[in-house]
Amino acid sequence: MELNTKDIKSVLKRGDFEYPVMESFYTIQGEGKYQGHAAYFIRLGGCDVGCHWCDVKESWPVDIHPLKSVDTLLNEALAFPGRLVVITGGEPLMHDLDPLTAAFQAAGFRTHIETSGVCETFTGTWDWICFSPKKFKEPNPAILPFVHELKVVIFHPSDVAWAQEWASKINSNAHLYMQPEWSKQVSMNPLIVEFVKANPIWQISVQTHKFLQIP
Ligand code: SF4
Repeated sequence: MELNTKDIKSVLKRGDFEYPVMESFYTIQGEGKYQGHAAYFIRLGGCDVGCHWCDVKESWPVDIHPLKSVDTLLNEALAFPGRLVVITGGEPLMHDLDPLTAAFQAAGFRTHIETSGVCETFTGTWDWICFSPKKFKEPNPAILPFVHELKVVIFHPSDVAWAQEWASKINSNAHLYMQPEWSKQVSMNPLIVEFVKANPIWQISVQTHKFLQIP
């Protein structure tokens, strides 16, 4: 197929599009449905949700992270054999993710996102949407019909009921996970275990990458 000038311009524009990247690395997805799968992670800078227990607070500012183009990110990811990319943050939907996901999908990647769902706009084309709502900023309900996975971090016992509220709002095919906040495992694990035993539609997500001591 021949590309016309307009196509060429749009391809170039897509490849040149830049994002603030805190870090990117090839590792094992440690959480949720795809736990255990090799994946290339791209952590974008920028988040205004303000979770006090956030373990990546360095990601919050947008402007301290180096800009990387779509082409650069794709070339870095193509150096590894896995064809699953996870876009995370920060809150990645602060950025226009259409150019990024278009390029990665064209190169044969599955595109996954981890989002708190708070942003007004919802960009990108996704094979998997992990929606992880936070109490600190209300999510935009527009994301709810498209969610593949609900993952609620359990920091306090009251978060269990809050997780159930979100489960009642999303589409019924979504996978449901409760994940103990890393520093609260001793106090939260027994509660979550008993909850899942009594409510088997839910599953436990543990941060296996932390047990494996990998990024
Ligand atoms: Fe941290 Fe994620 Fe909360 Fe943002 S939404 S503050 S990155 S845990």
